[in-house]
Amino acid sequence: MPVEIVMNHATFRKAWRFDAFVEACAAAGMRRVSIWGNEVAEIGLDAARARLRDSGMRAFGYNRAGPLLAGDPARRAELMAAAKAEIETAAALGSDHILLFPGGLPGGSKGLAASRSQTADACAILNDHAGNCGIALALEPLHPMLAGDRTALCTLAEANRLCDRLGANAGIVIDSYHVWWDAELEAQTALAGSRGRILGFHVNDWLIPTRDMVTDRGMMGDGVIDLAGMWSMVLRAGYDGPVEVEIFSEHWWAQDPDEVLALALERCAAIFSDEAAR
Ligand code: ZN
Repeated sequence: MPVEIVMNHATFRKAWRFDAFVEACAAAGMRRVSIWGNEVAEIGLDAARARLRDSGMRAFGYNRAGPLLAGDPARRAELMAAAKAEIETAAALGSDHILLFPGGLPGGSKGLAASRSQTADACAILNDHAGNCGIALALEPLHPMLAGDRTALCTLAEANRLCDRLGANAGIVIDSYHVWWDAELEAQTALAGSRGRILGFHVNDWLIPTRDMVTDRGMMGDGVIDLAGMWSMVLRAGYDGPVEVEIFSEHWWAQDPDEVLALALERCAAIFSDEAAR
């Protein structure tokens, strides 16, 4: 069986709106897509659901629940309500999981420890809500360079500990860009796998130099990440889901999206084999 490939809409963010993205993925023979709430909001939930159904596609990852952190309790409550609404939309679209996005330190704050505990508290509430809606909550540790402005959750070890506290329904998305450098990568991947909580595997590459932490990710094979090695690790941990291409890149956003899609599929075929676990 060939490895299933899923495209994340972020890879084509500037070229394709929801309809064009879903149609292109369906035409390329894919069965699932990872989608974004702002794109769904643009066309409306019913239209998004109809588009997926008509093209025979299902939603895999849904981005996202968050940001969640704020210094002011009233603002925090607003953000939590918005995150719950996103969970409901993700579930209504039949998505496999929704990505949690805690967000950065509240304006001017130096309270990293407080951000961690706020994130954990929010996760407990959102995980319950997601469970009630029938959708998994995905924690995605992000590269520590993003600890100030994106999330305080930066390692697989922290994500595993948080999942232990949250219990069933919470899992982890492993993104090569964010965790490839971690000396504990293999051990923490194995631990996540042994608890049955690896929900997704995002791929892209780490370029040298990386000119922007958020929007200069590489095409698989163009950087220094041992992606075949990571894939083998994830498979050995028991993951049986797809490889998801997620490339935030001003460079690739400026190219012809059909060509980017074809190249991404070609690179995936070369790097990610179903023999990797053997
Ligand atoms: Zn990701």
